[in-house]
Amino acid sequence: MRQFLRTSFGISLLATLLLAMMAAGEPLAHGYWNMLFKNLQRPAPASTVLLTIDDQKNLTSAGLTEILGRLRLRMPRRVLIDAALPVGENAADDAGLAREVHSYGSDIAFIARSDKIDNFGKDAIILPPRQITGNAEVLVSAWRGNFVLYAVSAPYAVDIDGHKYSTVSAALAGVRSGFEGDYYPDFRVDPATIPRLASHELVAGAASASNLTGRTVIVTGLNKSPSILYFGHSYTPAVALDIAGAEGLKAPFSLSFGPRLGSLPILALVALLVSFGRRSRGWRKVAAYVAALGSVALVPALLRTQGIVFAPDTAFIFLGIYGTIRLWQKRARRIQLTSASGLPNLLALANNPIAVGSDVVVAVVARYEEILATLPQDLHSECARQIARRIAAGSGADTIYHGDGGHFAWAEEARPLEMQLDHLEGLRALFAAPLLIGTRTFDTNIHFGLDRNEGLDSPTRVNSALASANEALSNGRAIELFEASRLAEAPWELSLHARIEEGLRNGDIWLAFQPQWNLKENRMCGAEALIRWNHPTRGPIAPDAFILQAERAGRIDALTYWVLDLAITAALALNARGPRFQMSINLSAQMVDKPDLVANFSDAVRRRSIDPSLLTIEITETSSVRNRPAACQNLTRLRELGFRLSIDDFGTGEASLAYLADLPSDELKIDRRFIDRLGTSPRDQAIVANTITLAHALGQTVVAEGIERPETLAILQSMGCDYAQGYLLGRPVTYSDLERTYAASLSRAAGQV
Ligand code: C2E
Ligand code: CA
Ligand code: CA
Repeated sequence: MRQFLRTSFGISLLATLLLAMMAAGEPLAHGYWNMLFKNLQRPAPASTVLLTIDDQKNLTSAGLTEILGRLRLRMPRRVLIDAALPVGENAADDAGLAREVHSYGSDIAFIARSDKIDNFGKDAIILPPRQITGNAEVLVSAWRGNFVLYAVSAPYAVDIDGHKYSTVSAALAGVRSGFEGDYYPDFRVDPATIPRLASHELVAGAASASNLTGRTVIVTGLNKSPSILYFGHSYTPAVALDIAGAEGLKAPFSLSFGPRLGSLPILALVALLVSFGRRSRGWRKVAAYVAALGSVALVPALLRTQGIVFAPDTAFIFLGIYGTIRLWQKRARRIQLTSASGLPNLLALANNPIAVGSDVVVAVVARYEEILATLPQDLHSECARQIARRIAAGSGADTIYHGDGGHFAWAEEARPLEMQLDHLEGLRALFAAPLLIGTRTFDTNIHFGLDRNEGLDSPTRVNSALASANEALSNGRAIELFEASRLAEAPWELSLHARIEEGLRNGDIWLAFQPQWNLKENRMCGAEALIRWNHPTRGPIAPDAFILQAERAGRIDALTYWVLDLAITAALALNARGPRFQMSINLSAQMVDKPDLVANFSDAVRRRSIDPSLLTIEITETSSVRNRPAACQNLTRLRELGFRLSIDDFGTGEASLAYLADLPSDELKIDRRFIDRLGTSPRDQAIVANTITLAHALGQTVVAEGIERPETLAILQSMGCDYAQGYLLGRPVTYSDLERTYAASLSRAAGQV
């Protein structure tokens, strides 16, 4: 029950019932009836005729006697005298009137009116003098009103001094005593259509006077008849109400539960329809709500024509309250599901089931916050929208959801994995063109998290894709695939710390060296140190994967200094053999901004007495660097200490040309993606050629990595590339293998001399 009262439906119902108890719906009901009866009119019945005394000289008992005499000749069914009788002036005339009345027998009756709404007392109802009425019946007309004193209902009978007087409508309808409670007039009766005859026409014997035969004639106009407020017509002579009252009583039913209870049946009906609508979807829902609204408006009107009075007000209030609460909730929900840019947010995507056969993709835009920081507030949403448009154009998704910061998500058709990766690479290429926002341009870069686990629920999938996108960003990878199986790896990752220690101790983790060649001198001139892990049970683990895990496990520092130490050992040994041998190591982006980085590197070279310029530090993508200024400062310091700096994977990530100018570096490594297709792609040729020219102009040497084909090497040579690295020239090998090949290459060179 408590649960129920917490729903919008329960609250509305409760509030409605409280308001109904306070009769708060009366104004609504009043407006409803007033409008209804203004528009739903019907003519008055022909069976009751008003005979209006319009001639001043008839306003005496003698005059009235004459009219009653003439009227009797027309053989009306019954005559009701609706007037304060003009008696007391002439005793003989009064006696004549009494005689005339007497001669009608039971076919005549008198009406005593209360001219005030809700007043049934004898102070308001003046009974006609007994000397005239004799034994004729006296009927009473008195009305109950609503809060603005419009007549609403009347009792069947009124008690005055212990005598029950039937009301006029009851008498007209032929309903005699025995009924308790009230009846409700049929306000559709248009007062203007009540048949009327003026007394002078009757006196003159006009043809229309023959219409009186067999009818009930109400003689009126002897004094000013009171006016009462009548639905749809404002002030109306009270006699019209008597006629409408009789019509109400003649309807098939005459049923009402009074103004308060009378509104509950409609409320029950509407509540039932709404509760059905709440639980349905689609057209059923719409139909239920339309039916609820329709019932409130039409059912009371329809029933009223049958004499059943059910007021719509409580149901109106209920619909009003319920509708307002729902609209408010919808609005709140919309706000909750909308990002600051006005695009729907990730919650909106996670909230609905994701279509079958879809992948969930989250793209994260590198340096998004930085871009926003340089833009005026009013362009922030424009920035998000522009990115979303670009993504929509590239991905073909209808809706792009925007999360906090630079996250954009969507669901798209699941293609085979290779195709999907290619597709996302293509999308990434769209972001090679800078964003133009306001008058400013921005270079951006985008990373993807991909979730392909159809079986999982939407929130899990969106979260997975989100986590993967963040991972891609922090590792500088284009795409990170979320695999459910990775969840199972959590325990392995948790114990990674111990395993790395163990691997370093027992030699499962070792350092490979891949030769680098000087293309001008055509000799081996250096090597890149690449970490390897041959796990006893898991087999060889790709460095990409386990470096990521080491970063997560906080073990990357230890690994880096281990690599640095071994690389220094190798460099010292190889340089002892003669010509300069350059040793490259990779520095994880996670470490670039660490406060103790410079101290540790300078300690290491001092301890081992090696010239730092023999060591090249390769740095990649820096979008994930948390503290950029600190990173820049570290790199500058390292360079000042004599280390060479190389920008790895140039052309893939953040490493745009503009950024190259900012960063202190000596060397640029063109990513193998551009090298691979050099023989076939004119576009890649142009990129590489331009990069080489530009790098040289900036005083950088250029290394091309990933050379697998002789023709690629030839092209690079012709372009003026300085150094080369690739399977063609040498795979990553153990130190002893490297030493052997280096010795061989030295002796070959010596032999050539
Ligand atoms: P990277 O720095 O771009 O290293 C070059 C990668 O390209 C190496 O993969 C290398 O084996 C591979 N490669 C070299 N020549 C060719 C070729 O001709 N064809 C092809 N298909 N591949 C070639 P590897 O060793 O799997 O290393 C992957 C990445 O792992 C490295 O990319 C680097 O980012 C990271 N990594 C490796 N060792 C370390 C390390 O000691 N410290 C850090 N922080 N990262 C490392
Ligand atoms: Ca590298
Ligand atoms: Ca590389």
